[in-house]
Amino acid sequence: MLDNLNTIKKNIKNAAKEAGRNAEDIVLVAVTKTVDINKAEEIYKLGVCDLGENRVQELVRKRDIMPDGIKWHMIGRLQKNKVKYIIDSIELIHSLDSLGLAAEIEKQCVKKDIKVNVLIQINVSGEDTKTGFYPDEIDGFISEMSKLPHVMVKGLMTMAPYEGDAGPIFKKAAKIFKQLQKKAEDGSLPDNVIMEELSMGMSGDYTAAILEGATMIRLGGAIFGR
Ligand SMILES: *Cc1c(COP(=O)(O)O)cnc(C)c1O
Repeated sequence: MLDNLNTIKKNIKNAAKEAGRNAEDIVLVAVTKTVDINKAEEIYKLGVCDLGENRVQELVRKRDIMPDGIKWHMIGRLQKNKVKYIIDSIELIHSLDSLGLAAEIEKQCVKKDIKVNVLIQINVSGEDTKTGFYPDEIDGFISEMSKLPHVMVKGLMTMAPYEGDAGPIFKKAAKIFKQLQKKAEDGSLPDNVIMEELSMGMSGDYTAAILEGATMIRLGGAIFGR
């Protein structure tokens, strides 16, 4: 695991350099969905504090046993009825994919008097097996966010298709992200929409994602093996 982590760090550094970026600006989220608690603790002890899970039940199970210093990321599809189980202990929800889910997050946040960080998932490739908003739905969705002030939109998340070249997908996502960033700077987005994070890149395509501007990469297999 240490060897894998060192390789990944080197690759991040090289890709960042090639893109004229700072490696420190890229957050590595270790995706622990396929590994047990021992393995997950091992990566935490190696200094990776951001861990990602794609199922609420598994996230809660690990969270309840593992150290408090871990920042938990929800990266998979989130059902509305499960929001309440993670709402007060989640660093970032990467997979906001509907207005109904946003409204439920708002409701649970109001109950607990907290705010929660989320990313809007966008479906750039247009594959209908992938969840997320299509690019032409994003502006309309974001304008609704002014009614949900406890939902802090920190940026965008996307996934490339398993087949084919991920580069063009990431480029498209980055373009949308930059356009939104500009709008946020101009003050034309709701106050709770702050475009600073672009979560994209998995084990097979993270260097391509960094080249296009990813600020967060989500790696499972590259760290823990297949
Ligand atoms: C599983 C998963 C990952 C990690 O995938 P690897 O190919 O193992 O790196 C990243 N993001 C999401 C949303 C996932 O479900």
